[in-house]
Amino acid sequence: MPDDTQILGRCPDCGERIPTAWRLIDYERDDGTEGVWAECPACEDVVAPE
Ligand SMILES: [Zn+2]
Repeated sequence: MPDDTQILGRCPDCGERIPTAWRLIDYERDDGTEGVWAECPACEDVVAPE
């Protein structure tokens, strides 16, 4: 089975790769760039993927 899952980034806490399906909220940072909050499938916590 092909694994072409899009990855948002890695969990800053545990390093787990976070798929886009786990994306929760988009927000704009103070510097105008776009940030995202997502739930880490490993920590089951809300993190900012790196
Ligand atoms: Zn994690």
